[in-house]
Amino acid sequence: MAEPVIGIIGGTGLGSAVREYMTDVSSEQVDTPFGSASDEIILGKFGNYRAAFINRHGSGHKYSPSRVPYAANIYALKKLGVRTLISIGAVGSLREQIQPGQLVLADQFIDKTYSRANTFFDGAAAVHCEFSHPTCDRLRAEFAKITTQQKFNTHNGGCYVCMEGPQFSTRAESLMHRSWGGDLIGMTALPEAKLAREAQICYVLLCLVSDYDCWKEHSGDGEGLLAEILANIKQATDNCLGLVNAVMNSQAEFLSNDCTCRKSLEKALWTNPKQQDEEKIRKLSVLFK
Ligand SMILES: [Zn+2]
Repeated sequence: MAEPVIGIIGGTGLGSAVREYMTDVSSEQVDTPFGSASDEIILGKFGNYRAAFINRHGSGHKYSPSRVPYAANIYALKKLGVRTLISIGAVGSLREQIQPGQLVLADQFIDKTYSRANTFFDGAAAVHCEFSHPTCDRLRAEFAKITTQQKFNTHNGGCYVCMEGPQFSTRAESLMHRSWGGDLIGMTALPEAKLAREAQICYVLLCLVSDYDCWKEHSGDGEGLLAEILANIKQATDNCLGLVNAVMNSQAEFLSNDCTCRKSLEKALWTNPKQQDEEKIRKLSVLFK
């Protein structure tokens, strides 16, 4: 197994910015039993850690949220030695107090996706991972400590409603998501977080708030609104890069094996060994390490 690595998955625009913080940079195309990852993976040293970055939507933003090769991305990162994954994505806010431009460390999900493969084990065996705390509480606590020390404007905790898209919500849906207890709306964190759990990777989700979703009546015209959204994403991205840089330069223990996420497959494989598809399970051996 390669040297332990911290993985970073981010949207378009983040890759070149992350690359600027890295030294000893190389890139690698990684193939997996689930096809190729979205893009070449950028490898290098980032602060105190080895890091591997994937652009979630591929070069030129070619993959819509429904088409992102989530399984290939997570499998490729695991193959490269990733134990800890920082996932970054834009969201809309469903709460007045979660303001555009701010960051949120999400800790719960409501899954509304319906056309994405959400397990590595389809056809191989029945695998039931525990998912009541879908992001890594240990990592989130470390991140929260750093955001407090360094005064990043970040909310610790939030329920992320993951919708299929690509269209945004109707106003009726947005109001319903609020009534369900959702705090954020986005299109990409699932099945990514489920697959990270199946790959026994600690996963933390950093959300960049671009706007208030349509539950809140917007003032201003279309063009002004778009400019405002882009400015908010820029502000949130700058905050996010600052936070990730602080994390990567900290002395906190981000690669611990002593975390329940790192043992998620221990009791999850329910199919009798005789009934498992041995060949398929063998191909997935990377996930068990
Ligand atoms: Zn963990």
